[in-house]
Amino acid sequence: MTAPDEEKLRVRIVEVMRAMDARGLNRGTSGNVSARCGDGMLVTPSGVPPERLTPETIVRVGADGAVAEGQLKPSSEWRMHLQILRRRPDAGAVVHCHSRHATILACAGRPIPAVHYMVGVSGGASVPVAPYATFGSEALADAVVEALDGRNAALMANHGQIAVAPSLGHALLIAEEIEEQAAVYWGCLAIGGPKLLSEAQMEEIMVQFRAYGQKA
Ligand code: 13P
Ligand code: ZN
Repeated sequence: MTAPDEEKLRVRIVEVMRAMDARGLNRGTSGNVSARCGDGMLVTPSGVPPERLTPETIVRVGADGAVAEGQLKPSSEWRMHLQILRRRPDAGAVVHCHSRHATILACAGRPIPAVHYMVGVSGGASVPVAPYATFGSEALADAVVEALDGRNAALMANHGQIAVAPSLGHALLIAEEIEEQAAVYWGCLAIGGPKLLSEAQMEEIMVQFRAYGQKA
């Protein structure tokens, strides 16, 4: 990757962290963002609030997890980000946040079923919950990679949510939509439970999604 391209990615990562904060998807130093960079990645530093992030604070992590000296400490979840990028060649960016309704469902161990057609942005008919593991652990990285299983999003038990996409902007959109779907499902549960879409209806939706929007 050329130096100007890397600089653009650093700027975008800061923008995405600030956008999550501004849109109420995250608070304080929760959440982290990464983007593929060469055979490694760029990832947010650990414990730095969005308003203090600058492109220079973003940490470059090698394919083997190595961090060159002189950089800030990478996100405690760097293993999770690196494993996803390693195991998912289709992914260019990973966004993790503790958005409220996704976290409520994750704490209740409830996957999001086919409550609304937009659940399909997850790449499947439901959003699974990755089993609990301590934040920052290799076990959490493994659990999340496994739960994603080719999908674009997953909830993380007693923790939050994660979204994966080719680009940072796309991953942010998915995280925002997963939060919305979590809120819709939570609301439905509060008024007697949702009337779910069928498997056949969700299959039709997934076909529609492939043609949706301004395809080149
Ligand atoms: P970091 O500040 O280390 O990225 O941790 C925040 C977080 O959400 C851990 O899961
Ligand atoms: Zn977290």
